[in-house]
Amino acid sequence: MSSKFSCFVIILLFVPLFTQCKALQLLEQQPQATQQDVNDAISETTSLVRLIYFTPQDRPFKQRIADQIELQMETVQTFFADQMEAHGFGRKTFAFETDVKGKTVVHQVKGKFPDKHYLYNTTTKVEAEIRERFSLSKNVYMIVVDTSNKEINGALGFGSSRRGGQSGILWIAKSGFQGKTIAHELGHAFGLHHDFRNERFLMSYGSFHLSSTRLEKRQLSKEAAEFLDASRFFNPGRTFSSQSQPKIKIISPLEYPSRTDSIRIIFELSDRDGLHQARFHTNPNITDKDRAKFSRGTPAFKTSKRLNGQKMTVAFDYKISKVDVHDLWLQVVDSQGHFRTEPFLVQLQK
Ligand SMILES: [Zn+2]
Repeated sequence: MSSKFSCFVIILLFVPLFTQCKALQLLEQQPQATQQDVNDAISETTSLVRLIYFTPQDRPFKQRIADQIELQMETVQTFFADQMEAHGFGRKTFAFETDVKGKTVVHQVKGKFPDKHYLYNTTTKVEAEIRERFSLSKNVYMIVVDTSNKEINGALGFGSSRRGGQSGILWIAKSGFQGKTIAHELGHAFGLHHDFRNERFLMSYGSFHLSSTRLEKRQLSKEAAEFLDASRFFNPGRTFSSQSQPKIKIISPLEYPSRTDSIRIIFELSDRDGLHQARFHTNPNITDKDRAKFSRGTPAFKTSKRLNGQKMTVAFDYKISKVDVHDLWLQVVDSQGHFRTEPFLVQLQK
């Protein structure tokens, strides 16, 4: 599975936030250098959220921003704990990196170039420099970029998971520096796709009416909580022995007679660590209205099934609308929190 999904938020004049997700062709490069930070005491097994505050060479570090990063992360961490608890999973949440005294570590990274160098293709340029200091192959990295632009590549932020749940990255611009944007992009970095079933859901874009809604008014869906329950980022004390991703095979047809209005899609799933959850996604372009259309072409959550065992057959009913081609995605996560998102197309015969 080579495609990566990431999300970014754009601002329209007089209109609240829109979020848009795009398939980014991020190359999974091997880290060019090993982690050289002497200060971090990160164990081999723990998966953490690590915080980076990046400034171009000609812009000063501001302690105020470092303090805000710390404060916002505590709010977001508590939000996830509250939501996991509300869904019956206990106060599970992610951990972020702290020093020996328990203080949050915000790594300050000074760019090699002046501000103007980073105004275009910001993430590509910044990531190349971050890689020289940090191994991005494990942990989730939140990178706050302080250029003279309020946005990064025109977005408030975007996040994506990597390596099937073993790592992730999220980028936050100055204007995206608020709890709800950070929590939403973290959700992507943990592996969650959009979910437009309810405007209050964290992985939706919110609504016009709720545009001023603070993070405290957003909700994690119960299906998202069930997914995160297996995530290595929500089980910091657990040892993860395997890195294998689930296998997904579609066994129902991909083509149907032209007048078909409803189909049952059947999958054979297997994973040697034990299956945890199967998540069925559709294309917002077809099935959703309003703001969801801004993420057309990328997965939007519809329904999921809790799984058990190493091998299972699962079925999802799908109502075919008038369009001829249907982009669908199945994301399957195992008991070790590793997942695979498989795209497939269902078509009506002409
Ligand atoms: Zn998003």
